[in-house]
Amino acid sequence: MNQNKKDIRALSLQELEAYFSSIGEKAFRARQVYDWLWNKNAHSLAGMTNLSKPLREKLENHFIIRPAEIHVMQRSKDGTIKNAVRLHDGNVVESVLIPTAKRTTACVSSQVGCSLDCTFCATSQLIRMRNLTTAEIVDQVTLIDKQSREYHQKPLSNIVFMGMGEPLLNYSSVLDAIRKITEDKGLGMSPRRITVSTSGIPKLIEKLADENVKVKLALSLHSAIEEKRNQLMPFSVKFPLTNIKESLNYWYQKTKSRITLEYIVWKGINDSKEDINALVKFCKTIPSKVNLIQYNSIDSGKYSQASSEIIQNYVSTLEKENIIVKIRKSRGDDIDAACGQLANKH
Ligand code: SAH
Repeated sequence: MNQNKKDIRALSLQELEAYFSSIGEKAFRARQVYDWLWNKNAHSLAGMTNLSKPLREKLENHFIIRPAEIHVMQRSKDGTIKNAVRLHDGNVVESVLIPTAKRTTACVSSQVGCSLDCTFCATSQLIRMRNLTTAEIVDQVTLIDKQSREYHQKPLSNIVFMGMGEPLLNYSSVLDAIRKITEDKGLGMSPRRITVSTSGIPKLIEKLADENVKVKLALSLHSAIEEKRNQLMPFSVKFPLTNIKESLNYWYQKTKSRITLEYIVWKGINDSKEDINALVKFCKTIPSKVNLIQYNSIDSGKYSQASSEIIQNYVSTLEKENIIVKIRKSRGDDIDAACGQLANKH
């Protein structure tokens, strides 16, 4: 029975309007249903109390809502919460709540698995099964918002697309989810509090710049030396750094928002003077700031984080050149919730 029903959250507002007019209902009904679905995060058609009972029954005969649900929740000793979120087809993605003194951040997934092949990331060892739908992305955010209120007594303040998958390769659902999350009536989150992190696909960076959504952009750089970056992130052979630079400058021209460059310093890989100089040169050509991310080891153990002296050397060299730089501490690594560790151990 349920197999024949359509997922109502796969319909746009216009498609809902067309449906209501096809059954002889007024167009404003579509807006009411849309508000329930996207602004009140309703998970039941029967609970849409401003619609008549017969109309609700009609909807239930045609449509279904398929909420994503928390399958397993783990709490780190630092307060970080990792959720294995089960989707309607049994696939599982991971979403993380990261609390700090000032903010609570949701780290959400955009794909089941990942098609990229970053050699240092646990998610890349999974096969990319499929893209997430808009509803599955929004559900992760609302689930984490609830946890933030419950465990930290405050609503979610920020979202980062730094979970599983490459957000720009699920472009339309990620964009649609951002639009829905930032709508006044829904979570009403400012787009400035949302960061899309990409491994760097120039054409799609430019496309997103053109959308005028005002989110922040982060690029996983890790090396400003082309050959080295290609070894760390083999797919990037197709996307030379000159093209990435052009797209980042286009992003800045359009949005006036600085790009965050995510960078891990590994022992024996990118810890030499030559690596630092290449990063400085890269930063000089783009309005940017650098986040030095702590490396979280994954099972293969091929890489290790450079010593704190080397990292301090990166910091002081960048600062001398007037480049903004921050060291990002790892969160939730005791439960494999940290960057790059999301691999569905459940
Ligand atoms: N595909 C996107 C978003 C997901 S990865 C991207 O590449 O940006 C989110 C961040 O985690 C990226 O900066 C990525 O380089 C980083 N990352 C991946 N594996 C990591 C690891 N083992 N330790 C620390 N950071 C890691």
